[in-house]
Amino acid sequence: MANKVEILKQEKDGLDVWPDLLRYSKSGFDTITPDDMTRFRWYGVYEQQPKAGHFMMRVKLPGGDVSSAQWRVMGEIACDYGQGIADITTRQNIQYHWLTIETIPQVIQRLSSVGLSTVGACGDITRNICGCPVAGIDPYEIIDARPLIREVTRYFQGNKEFSDLPRKYKISIAGCAHLCHQPQINDVGFTALVRRLNGREEIGFHVRVGGGLSTQPHLGQRLNLFARPEQVPDVARGITEIFRDHGYRERRNHARLKFLVADWGAEKFLEVLTERLGWTPEPAAPDDEPKSRGHDHLGVHSQQQAGLSWIGTVVLGGRLTADKMLAAADIADRYCAGNVRTTNQQNLLFPNIAEEDISDAKRALLDAGFVWDVSPFRRSGVACTGTEFCNLAITETKQRLATIVEYLETRLDWDEELRINVNGCPNACGQHYVGDIGLQGCLAKVGDERVEAYDVCLGGRLGPDAKFTRAIQRKVPATRVGYALENLLVAYRGERTDDDRFSDFVDRHTDEELGAFLGLDNLAMNDPTWMPPPARHTLAGVE
Ligand code: SF4
Repeated sequence: MANKVEILKQEKDGLDVWPDLLRYSKSGFDTITPDDMTRFRWYGVYEQQPKAGHFMMRVKLPGGDVSSAQWRVMGEIACDYGQGIADITTRQNIQYHWLTIETIPQVIQRLSSVGLSTVGACGDITRNICGCPVAGIDPYEIIDARPLIREVTRYFQGNKEFSDLPRKYKISIAGCAHLCHQPQINDVGFTALVRRLNGREEIGFHVRVGGGLSTQPHLGQRLNLFARPEQVPDVARGITEIFRDHGYRERRNHARLKFLVADWGAEKFLEVLTERLGWTPEPAAPDDEPKSRGHDHLGVHSQQQAGLSWIGTVVLGGRLTADKMLAAADIADRYCAGNVRTTNQQNLLFPNIAEEDISDAKRALLDAGFVWDVSPFRRSGVACTGTEFCNLAITETKQRLATIVEYLETRLDWDEELRINVNGCPNACGQHYVGDIGLQGCLAKVGDERVEAYDVCLGGRLGPDAKFTRAIQRKVPATRVGYALENLLVAYRGERTDDDRFSDFVDRHTDEELGAFLGLDNLAMNDPTWMPPPARHTLAGVE
């Protein structure tokens, strides 16, 4: 039997809700029907919690590549309509809060005046296409994939042949062989490679399908296919048609492409894709993906263009103020040839800075609050929306991430990359399955009270040795999480060897051993008056 969303999509396509949205902007919030409220998602609009008249809105930024004029307008909208804030998401979008039905048409019109769109930012449709934030400027890239991202975006954008997919659908395309664009957890991931055949080198892409997180994470499977750049749009079309026509539609939580791919396997998927394409793709080239786990895109780096550099800056949990956005637009105009880039780690990157401007640009960035030389805890923190605005959330996330980061910074001097991902519920928008440390929001009982808590999950990563986190300790009260992580990291440091990484440490210990390292006794878990003991740890070890 078809589920509720399938029925409402058959009654009216999500893309056809625009005239209704305009009508509701006049007749008011109370007149919106529940079905149209769901269809608003096709225009990137979601009801914000509590359901009392405010909305979130996502703006698609293909590949995270934005002009300063676009960025300025997004900052002005945050100021004028979004109570002075906006968030960078893990799909390189900008997300607003606090919009009202009366103002949404004006916001969309202002975005569209600078070539930005919210169409397809939510709903059962192709979402923002992700890419590498240093595309076109990275000295080591194989090909600048931005033209392909733009072409594939243009094809799917507002295309009613693909506006009723079984579920949300995510594509990622990068022209570099590293896997920073997360092809392993996208429905479709294109990754560039150089094929060496008969003494000739040829640039193309290999293709993964069926990746995704949510409550049942799957890693994408590689197809035995080599796609030349000009074939990428057609391959994307073929895969999307398969999802549209064969994807499961009975249960919402079993409708993503990953379930079809898991059932069919890569071989059958390729057979059906070949029929759809009408041409026979060449087999994949040997796997030459680098063995590194990619880049956090922070700090000052030389570009492929002589004399130019980019600076990647930290936006912890993706939260920006309108003032910071406007300052970033000015800096981009002044030093970056009018360009900024969002990253899938919720950060902001400033490209094209001339050698002679580097000092001034750094000063301007620091003055505006954009930093890069910070602790590893702060560099890689990611947080979803959480109870502040999300209807599905169990816990707050962005402030919790900041609190944990601050706690660890005051307790430990740390020099190794450590990715902390915080989610307000099991849906994994904050990608807790792939963090070194993943925190999944839940509730716990402390004394007689139910309090915010997190399942502490460890050892996730993408890249050549991709793995999802293991849940080590459930229901750790939120105020104890920093302390537990401090204990864990001290235990790791106590046995760390030269080429050890945190993930190696997690891999070599059992769940019970890792649970014991968290150091949470009965008192810490259950006593409402519990406070963390004074810091005992220094860079050199335990005092
Ligand atoms: Fe909301 Fe849960 Fe997604 Fe966080 S992970 S944004 S709480 S649905």
